[in-house]
Amino acid sequence: MNTRVGTIGNAAPLVADAAPMIDPFGRAVTYLRVSVTDRCDFRCTYCMAENMTFLPKKDLLTLEELDRLCSAFIAKGVRKIRLTGGEPLVRKNIMYLVRQLGRQIGSGLEELTVTTNGSQLARHAEELYDCGVRRINVSLDTLDPEKFRRVTRWGDFAKVIEGIDAAQRAGLKIKLNAVALKDFNEAEMPDMLRFAHGRGMDLTVIETMPMGEIEEDRTDQYLPLSKLRADLERQFTFTDIDYQTGGPARYVRVAETGGRLGFITPLTHNFCESCNRVRLTCTGTLYMCLGQNDAADLRAALRSTEYDGLLHAAIDEAITRKPKGHDFIIDRTHNRPAVARHMSVTGG
Ligand code: SAM
Ligand code: SF4
Repeated sequence: MNTRVGTIGNAAPLVADAAPMIDPFGRAVTYLRVSVTDRCDFRCTYCMAENMTFLPKKDLLTLEELDRLCSAFIAKGVRKIRLTGGEPLVRKNIMYLVRQLGRQIGSGLEELTVTTNGSQLARHAEELYDCGVRRINVSLDTLDPEKFRRVTRWGDFAKVIEGIDAAQRAGLKIKLNAVALKDFNEAEMPDMLRFAHGRGMDLTVIETMPMGEIEEDRTDQYLPLSKLRADLERQFTFTDIDYQTGGPARYVRVAETGGRLGFITPLTHNFCESCNRVRLTCTGTLYMCLGQNDAADLRAALRSTEYDGLLHAAIDEAITRKPKGHDFIIDRTHNRPAVARHMSVTGG
């Protein structure tokens, strides 16, 4: 057992009992994804409706509270934290949280990463590196600026490329994430692969997940990655590799480019049996599974006392409810999402 002693602000020292988190199916929970805001400066068509209603700012945990929550998870065995959203880099003063968490790298925490749309990356890249971040994910669904504007509704392709340039200059390793969208970027995938690998970046393709109401028909967007893979294999030679980043992607090595290509296939292949993750929202709600509605409120325990005992108990109770797997099925009869909340609430 790992006992951690720390202080929060001017509070008395905390002594946290820190039994590692093992769920009812024997999986150790070592990875925390934190959606630091539900807001975003883009409106990707598969992710959000154009007229999204966001949480009132007063409902958000402060960055100090998010730091305390994350620290409780680190004390309980979390080794990797990913900051996501919404768009994490649009949250005011977000670098405060990055710096605080970065200080814990090497003492409990092994890795701090960020998933971003890249729009604000140019101005934050160096500081991210300085805070200890070494790898980031940048979402990019197309290389065509006009199509980019269409899929993000509000995004500026040139700014994202500027962000990628700045991040690489700063020494950050980048993985590109592309959501595979039928009749949108299917034909572009070979170029995206060459682009990513030509710049020393991995590429991961993601199946659309039926989360939250959007304005389009999700069944129209859905492209099974088994089909995409078969199409790509007409041009490229893939070898399955054992590469693991702690996430759900399965990787291949591409002989022609020498780079890695990942597939995240929640619908065609269940990725649940090795799930080591839980997800925290910016209001302190913990989702034990991306594809289920059950959640635990950690905010009450966080705010009730400065001592972490109650918080640890609330986390332990939540982990006993981690389900075996998700329930992603597109309700084709009613065209309803399987999970009502948007991806931006819990982060990708
Ligand atoms: N705004 C940041 C970004 O886009 O990278 C971080 C949050 S975003 C919700 C995280 C990832 O989820 C992105 O790569 C995005 O493409 C993906 N995503 C969003 N909605 C999705 C959906 N319904 N199905 C599959 N992936 C989705
Ligand atoms: Fe914003 Fe990311 Fe969702 Fe696009 S995918 S709308 S960038 S949160």
